[in-house]
Amino acid sequence: MKKHNFYAGPSILSEFTKEETAKAVMNFAGTGLSVMEVSHRGKEFQAVIDEAIALVKELLEVPEGYEVLFLQGGASMQFCMVPFNLMNKKAAYMNTGVWAGKALKEAKFFGEVVEVASSKDANFNYIPKQYEVPTDVDYLHITTNNTIFGTQMESDPVVPVRMVADMSSDIFSRPIDIKKYDLIYAGAQKNLAPSGVTLVIVKTDALGKVERPIPTMLDYNTHINSGSMYNTPPCLTIYAALQTLKWYKSQGGVAAMQKKNIEKAKLLYKELDRNSMFEAVVPLAEDRSVMNICFVMSEGNEALQDDFLKFASDRGLVGLKGHRSVGGFRASTYNALPKESVQALVDAMKEFESNQ
Ligand SMILES: *Cc1c(COP(=O)(O)O)cnc(C)c1O
Repeated sequence: MKKHNFYAGPSILSEFTKEETAKAVMNFAGTGLSVMEVSHRGKEFQAVIDEAIALVKELLEVPEGYEVLFLQGGASMQFCMVPFNLMNKKAAYMNTGVWAGKALKEAKFFGEVVEVASSKDANFNYIPKQYEVPTDVDYLHITTNNTIFGTQMESDPVVPVRMVADMSSDIFSRPIDIKKYDLIYAGAQKNLAPSGVTLVIVKTDALGKVERPIPTMLDYNTHINSGSMYNTPPCLTIYAALQTLKWYKSQGGVAAMQKKNIEKAKLLYKELDRNSMFEAVVPLAEDRSVMNICFVMSEGNEALQDDFLKFASDRGLVGLKGHRSVGGFRASTYNALPKESVQALVDAMKEFESNQ
């Protein structure tokens, strides 16, 4: 049976990514060796990381003055690395969910943190719009897509300070105005590669401004100066990331991805608003994520939740169980998920409704 993969992360990768990576696991770049068993200092792997960096710059139109890095420790390591390197005394944070809250908590180790807005009062089911950002902060930290709660910022916010963004679950899903950011980071396992690498795009000008000493591995400059090869990088993961980047380019880049993502999300939200058995978790259309679509059984039908999960899995629809802090269901519709998979979910929801 064909599987439709709605997992939130690690999550679906393109067939191209999997096939090309599988080939290189057996024979990498004609070496007769696996990409898992050759030196990262060899010319073959150097070509991989060089091309991956060049493609990130091309796809996201990264301007001069920015560096692209492949780091380890996940997006979670960035929660402390960002303030370590960028926060002198004060930074502003938007609290829009579990991940945003974790980033905010780590920043407190380094100075004063201003929580400019929070949507905690409604279990993070909206994006705050009315807030003021103090002008004396080093940066405003935002989470552009809240993977667990299914909210997303429609566009880059307009604020009087530079921004830092956790884009783990929506990087490459839409064009971004990189100039507005001092730093962008994203764990690879949502929209790029298997887990094991974190993409960082950093403005070099923003670095070197803090007074505290920074341990070598946590200093962005270490990784800039060594081309992300200060120590052994996760070679296999970076190889897979390169395949995804090539696939994005062949599909027409991030603007084409955005168009497809909006179509997929519309299809599912439309059914959620129509189907009497289900209800979308995020009420406002403009706050609804196009990457992680959260929904629950409608009032009175709560007891049927496990039945629907089974009904879906019998049809090859997997990874739909919602995060424990929201409950219900979550359909993650990342770039690599084809529209047919969303259609299969919509069909199952219709069938489930008519069976009641
Ligand atoms: C998954 C996720 C993280 C955590 O990523 P790790 O790589 O597991 O540390 C952080 N932020 C967001 C928005 C995420 O979706």
